[in-house]
Amino acid sequence: MIKQIKGLHHVTSIARDARENNAFFTNVLGLRRVKKTVNFDAPDVYHLYYGDEAGTPGTVMTYFPFPNAGRGTHGAGEVGRASFSIPTGSSQAWLDRLATFAVTGLSQDTRFGQKRVLFDGPDGDGFALVESDDERSPWTGNGVSAEMGIRGFHSADMRLRDGDVTGELLQFMGYEKGDTQDNVTRFIVPGGNDANVIDLEVTPDAPRAQQGAGSVHHIAFAVENRARQLEVREALIDTGYQVTPVIDRDYFYAIYFRTPGGVLFEVATNEPGFDRDEDTAHLGEALKLPSQHEHLRARLEGLLQPLDD
Ligand code: ZN
Repeated sequence: MIKQIKGLHHVTSIARDARENNAFFTNVLGLRRVKKTVNFDAPDVYHLYYGDEAGTPGTVMTYFPFPNAGRGTHGAGEVGRASFSIPTGSSQAWLDRLATFAVTGLSQDTRFGQKRVLFDGPDGDGFALVESDDERSPWTGNGVSAEMGIRGFHSADMRLRDGDVTGELLQFMGYEKGDTQDNVTRFIVPGGNDANVIDLEVTPDAPRAQQGAGSVHHIAFAVENRARQLEVREALIDTGYQVTPVIDRDYFYAIYFRTPGGVLFEVATNEPGFDRDEDTAHLGEALKLPSQHEHLRARLEGLLQPLDD
């Protein structure tokens, strides 16, 4: 078992419309856009990052908006829902707020004793807001006060036909198996960054998910630095996983591997962070390009849809 993983780092999903995506995460959910860059592997599309003030690992929801993407189909073999943490007692304020913005899929329930507000993102993405005692500081503005602001991720839900092997993998990654409610088993990493929970939902008869707009592309787990990342990489390889080499994503270093259930996992470093190429006061405002794509700037600035009015 390894102990280097400290919870979620980011969740990355696919969208269709960049403007709509930006408006939803900033104006409706009240997150801060902390980086406006491109998909390093397909620079004709944006890579947009939303989080707290600094884009602290464990708070960052990211999107690849592909203008022609078809909508994904939810099912088994994917991360079916990403959940954010909100203050205890703020569910009703969020239900009211999301209704005002005509957000779809609104409902509420209780899981493992915590109240949740469930809703859909712009492309049918599954989201929840979970009431929990969470000391992290929220980004505020756009009508979202500190009393209700999102603290960062609470958890991610993996929907699988068979949870056994993934449950073993999570325990190898340092997660402890917690309670089970209906077909959902909770896994918690001790000593994490507060985005500490993975819920495994086992649905043996569900059709397989088809990835598209509204689907999670991958989830990333946080490690402190590159040395810890190399230890994790070696341990995963020793266990039989096929892991990519370390890839420089400018704001963190990444390795990727696919889980037996079909979900793409990443392990990302907390360093160097989103302020490496712009001041914290102006994060997310300018189009930032990695050096290998800087020569494409004029073409990309003409091609990419403006996000702000
Ligand atoms: Zn990633």
